[in-house]
Amino acid sequence: MSFVKSKVNTTPIEDTVFAIVKKAKEAKAAVGAENVVDATIGSLYNEEGTIVAFDSVFTPYNNIPKETKAAYAGSFVGNDSFRDQVYNWVVKPSGCSLAHSVIATPGGTGAVAITLSEILDEGETVILPEIAWGSYKLMATMDNLNVKTYSLFEGDHFNLTSFKETCQEVMKTQKKLLMIINDPCHNPTGYSLTIEEWKEVVAFLNECGKQVPVVLLNDIAYIDYAYDLPHSRDYMATFDAFSENVMAVIAFSCSKALTSYGLRCGAAVLLGKTQEIVRGVEIVFEKAARATWSNVPNAAMDNFTYVTTENYDTYMKEKAYYVDLLKQRSDIFTSEADACGLAYYPYKEGFFVTVKIEDNALRDRYHEALMAQHIYTVKVNKGIRVAVCSLSVDKTKGLAKRMKDILNSL
Ligand code: PLP
Repeated sequence: MSFVKSKVNTTPIEDTVFAIVKKAKEAKAAVGAENVVDATIGSLYNEEGTIVAFDSVFTPYNNIPKETKAAYAGSFVGNDSFRDQVYNWVVKPSGCSLAHSVIATPGGTGAVAITLSEILDEGETVILPEIAWGSYKLMATMDNLNVKTYSLFEGDHFNLTSFKETCQEVMKTQKKLLMIINDPCHNPTGYSLTIEEWKEVVAFLNECGKQVPVVLLNDIAYIDYAYDLPHSRDYMATFDAFSENVMAVIAFSCSKALTSYGLRCGAAVLLGKTQEIVRGVEIVFEKAARATWSNVPNAAMDNFTYVTTENYDTYMKEKAYYVDLLKQRSDIFTSEADACGLAYYPYKEGFFVTVKIEDNALRDRYHEALMAQHIYTVKVNKGIRVAVCSLSVDKTKGLAKRMKDILNSL
């Protein structure tokens, strides 16, 4: 007998991250933290091994009156000041001039989830990167969607050929396309498409748009850690070339941008050729928001607006220190990996570097062998994720060579 609905997958979540985080913790207690490399945690950590919570974010947050924290948001789609500021923050610097709307969501997760569930019907197929954040697949399963994946890389570049083939395959049987591109700072590889690659993607989406409506879901969860921050949004200007049959939902997250993972604040930014196109999606997203989470934490929205306007200089300075730290850590890992011949997927920027192990059976053995040497990482499809976001410079030094030696010993 089952009490849950019949069309749901009842296999428990296999949380590959938290299980290993726990093992790393146990190892630290058993052999001492200095003898453990814990590259599991996907949040930004400082050099002392604690989670970073920006002063420029949490000092103003703590000063917000309790009545503001207590109150509902101004609307189901978010506070107007927040919606305006998300657009100013995410899209405006790019110069993209498409019609737009912003809907507040609980984190980037809310924006991705609402898009999958409201754009596609049950039984339809969403297109995902082959190596990707695990929640995409889980969301698809919960919505009874099928998944087709595109290979991410051709050599050290975005695999446009595979992307196109996958879309064309789906169009043979489906009257709509929804695909996710997690860019820039892709999780878990750290790749970012070039403007040229984006132009080709947009031109291809317009081609597809001649046959079916196309929705591009661009997940930008890590964008504010791009190494060339002033140009991190430039690619959005390529969306200006969208035809009337193509639109984008940009999934924005305050979790990483503000180091406020627990405040559950983010947004879905809708971009389309005309206001009618955008409004058509906005109506449905608004109702879905009302029907699921109702509204997003009022104080979290107000704080984002304050931090990114009045507290801008202090915030940007504080964040820049950590973007630089991330770069130091990733530079150490990738340069040492290059020196010893440890293969990793093309990394440009972001929280993670992923060691390339295309055979998943070998990857499993490797992951165990690393743990036997007290190196804790996270398994991803065709690879081993090294979370440089939480690994100190000291612990990063020498890691690539140790990992290469362990791989050679298998
Ligand atoms: N997208 C990607 C690729 C992520 O890695 C994450 C978080 O880990 C998110 C979106 C959403 O995070 P949140 O819901 O906390 O904003």
